[in-house]
Amino acid sequence: MKYAVRSRGDQVSNALREKIKTYLQEFGLTYDDIEPAIVITVGGDGTLLHAFHYYKHRLEDTAFVGIHTGHLGFYADWMPEEVEKLVIHIAKTPYQIVEYPLLEVVIRHHGDSDCENYLALNECTVKTLEGSLVCDVDIKGDNFETFRGDGLCISTPSGSTAYNKALGGAILHPSLASIQVSEMASINNRVYRTVGSPLVLPQHHTCLLKPLNDVDLKITIDHLSLVHTKVKSIQCRVSEEKVRFARFRPFPFWKRVKESFVGE
Ligand code: NAP
Repeated sequence: MKYAVRSRGDQVSNALREKIKTYLQEFGLTYDDIEPAIVITVGGDGTLLHAFHYYKHRLEDTAFVGIHTGHLGFYADWMPEEVEKLVIHIAKTPYQIVEYPLLEVVIRHHGDSDCENYLALNECTVKTLEGSLVCDVDIKGDNFETFRGDGLCISTPSGSTAYNKALGGAILHPSLASIQVSEMASINNRVYRTVGSPLVLPQHHTCLLKPLNDVDLKITIDHLSLVHTKVKSIQCRVSEEKVRFARFRPFPFWKRVKESFVGE
């Protein structure tokens, strides 16, 4: 089996990456950065986000597993002390695959028939560079509200524990093929009114954001950030593609939530 190891780049993570490479080579596995069947990340959830984007063109053929060299992560849930155990699992046992939903984002611009397609593992956020974001929010083809405020965050279930959580969004179990729309400081008064609560949309519902003011937008896709001008619409929905994680032991999602946010 072909594998790759990606590190956050700090000394501890790099040393662990080299150790994993040596172990797996001893077990007869082939290191292949281009077409790995399994990608081991060493660092944190951010490292796994980077690895996901690096291999997003071959999601069907790649499974991810994450080791954390900092705090417990949602994607990076193996501890450095467990690395020998993990390596033996990878080399010797057929692993179970767990699939998580992804967010598809299509950005269209005024005066341009082409569109830009993105895939997010955590979320897409839409903000302005200056002033408020004013945009119509359509859900499944119908106008739902006009949003005015700092911005909007559209997250995946596995991304619900990241930025979405900081915005007061709900934590969603990654088995729910859905996306969540959460507000960033909406202006609510007699003129402007939004629902105020995060919305969870099922797989067959599309959320379309249509900016009403001609401002430059800062649109993020996970850790990637781009400035867009003349944006006509941002279309968000559950992607048909999924991300695959290699599972070697049960580690229930709610246990990870408890350990990360509640403690003992
Ligand atoms: P960063 O600012 O270096 O890291 C953001 C933090 O989010 C890190 O602690 C990271 O964990 C954690 N994280 C990432 N994915 C997560 C997930 N699914 N569940 C729980 N925590 C998660 O930014 P980055 O490394 O470029 O990562 C980009 C991500 O940062 C975005 O996707 C967004 O979700 C998050 N973010 C959060 C806020 C906020 O909470 N207010 C604001 C901006 C961006 P590790 O330390 O394990 O890498």
